[in-house]
Amino acid sequence: MANGVSLGQPQVFQCPNCREFINTTMTHCSYCGVSVDAHAAHTAAQNQQVVASACHDANYAKILARAFAAFYFISWIPVLGGFASLGWVALLFIVPILLVRWWVKYSKLQTADADYEKAKRETIIAAIIWAAVMVVWFILSVLLQIVLLFMER
Ligand SMILES: [Zn+2]
Repeated sequence: MANGVSLGQPQVFQCPNCREFINTTMTHCSYCGVSVDAHAAHTAAQNQQVVASACHDANYAKILARAFAAFYFISWIPVLGGFASLGWVALLFIVPILLVRWWVKYSKLQTADADYEKAKRETIIAAIIWAAVMVVWFILSVLLQIVLLFMER
């Protein structure tokens, strides 16, 4: 992932004063002129990369949570259903694993970045979608069992 970026290469980060994007080779912000501390700049640049991967991972979890919901509804369709069920069972485990991994990896991140807050919200939305599908699945399974029980009589 970020292995190709060495300490010597310039890294992009947001100026702590004006929030414009500048890089770690600069001693002063080219937008507002505030002096840039090399260590703080490096930390900010690293944070920037972590925030970027947090956004990427959160977006990925949200897409898979939506696919999880879609697979559930497709699983009711004949023929297509078998394939969708397989995907559903896989995502039943993958989505919560991704969400837990996200929270373990990124929840302690100290940043005022709006993208990070957005990523956090996306993981919550993904968790809600996953939980909602589980509730629907549970209710319908119970109803189906009751219907089958009555039909056997
Ligand atoms: Zn600035």
